[in-house]
Amino acid sequence: MKLGTALTDSACKVLLCGSGELGKEVAIAMMRLGVEVVAIDRYPNAPAMHVAHRSYVVDMLNASELRRIAELEKPDYIVPEVEAIATPELIKLEEEGFNVIPTARATWLTMNREGIRRLAAEELGLPTSPYRFASTYEEFTAAVKEIGLPCVVKPVMSSSGHGQSTIHTADEIKSAWDESQSGGRAGAGRVIVEGFVNFDFEITLLTVRHVNGTSFVEPVGHHQVDGDYQESWQPQPMSPVARKKAEEIAGKITSALGGRGIFGVELFICGDDVIFSEVSPRPHDTGMVTMISQDLSEFDLHARAILGLPIPNIAFHGPSASKAIKVYGNSNAVSFGNLEEVLAEPDTDIRIFGKGELKGKRRLGVVLARAATVEEALEKVKRIHSKLEIEL
Ligand code: AMP
Repeated sequence: MKLGTALTDSACKVLLCGSGELGKEVAIAMMRLGVEVVAIDRYPNAPAMHVAHRSYVVDMLNASELRRIAELEKPDYIVPEVEAIATPELIKLEEEGFNVIPTARATWLTMNREGIRRLAAEELGLPTSPYRFASTYEEFTAAVKEIGLPCVVKPVMSSSGHGQSTIHTADEIKSAWDESQSGGRAGAGRVIVEGFVNFDFEITLLTVRHVNGTSFVEPVGHHQVDGDYQESWQPQPMSPVARKKAEEIAGKITSALGGRGIFGVELFICGDDVIFSEVSPRPHDTGMVTMISQDLSEFDLHARAILGLPIPNIAFHGPSASKAIKVYGNSNAVSFGNLEEVLAEPDTDIRIFGKGELKGKRRLGVVLARAATVEEALEKVKRIHSKLEIEL
C-alpha cells in the first residue's frame, strides 16, 4: 500500500460529492494523508471547498454534470457526502471502472428510504418498525389506517427531518400529508408511513468496513428534535445483550451494502430489543462527537478505510458530547463571539463550518466536550453553547 503526493503525477485523487461540514472533515482527513481533494456541490464556497485543492459548482442530481466532472478529473475514488446525487449515474460510472465509496449500489439504495427499508426488512429480515409506502393521498390514508396511530410520516427522499411529522390524532392526517409533499428533497411524491417506536433511546452505531474487516465504534447516543440532531454523546450506556444485537444488525446491513468506508447505522433501543431505522453509507452528523472522543474520528476512519489503510484499533478518550450550533435568521456574515468564555473550560472544542449564507434555520457549527461522565460532558456542551454570542 502506498500513497502519492497531491498535485503531482503520483497523487491519489478523491472526488468529494457534497461539500458540507462532514465533507470538509473528510477532505481534511484525506489531505493529511497527501491525497488530492476535488470538492463539488451545488453552491460556491461550501465548507469542504474551503479546504479542497479544487472545487466545482455543479448540480449533483444532474447525471451529465456528474459524469463531466468524473471524466475530467478521473479520481481514484468518488466519495459521496450527501444523499442527493444522481446515483444511477454512479452505478454506470462504477461499471466503467470508477471506484464509488462504499459502492454505487449502496448510495443508490440509501438515497431512497424505500430501497434501504425493503433491503433491511424484506431481504435481510432485520427488525424494523411496521411500515407502508404511499404515493397518493388515498394510499396514504389507507396506509395510516393500517399502521395505526401514532405513526411517523417521511418523504422517501428526505433527511434531517424535512417533510417529517408524527400523527397522533386523526385530525393531523391531512397536515402530515401536506407537510410531506412540501418538505421532501424531490418535491411532492412518495412517502413512508412508519409505526411510532416508543424507544428508550436511539443510537448511531458507527461501523467501519476496512481492509482487515469490520470495526464498531462506541455507540453514539443522540437527541433529535423534528428529525434533526441537537446533541450527541458517547458512549451511550446499553445492556450487553442490546449491544450485541446492535452490532449484529449493523454487521448485516453494512455487509449487504458492501465496499469500504464508514457507515452510520441508526437504531432504536427498547430494553434488550434493537430496531433498525436507517443507515448512511458515509460519516453521520451525530458522529461529529468522535472529533473529541477518539484518536481517529469518524472522518479519519472513513479516509483510512477508503484508502485501504489498516485500522488496528480505535482509541477512545472517554465520555464526550457534541451540540449543534443551529442559528435562525438572515445574514451573509455570521460571527461567533465570546469564544474566550466558550473555550475557557478544559477539554472543549468548537468547529465553525464556514457556511456563508444564512436564510432561515441552519447548522453552522458544533461545540464539543469531554468529561468524567456522559452527563457531565452533555452539561458542558450545553453550558458552553449558551455562552456563544452569535451576531448576524
Ligand atoms: P430519520 O430521518 O428516519 O432518521 O428520522 C429522524 C428521527 O425521527 C429519528 O432519529 C427518530 O428520533 C425519529 N423517528 C423516526 N422514525 C421514527 C419512528 N418510526 N418512531 C419513532 N421515532 C422515529
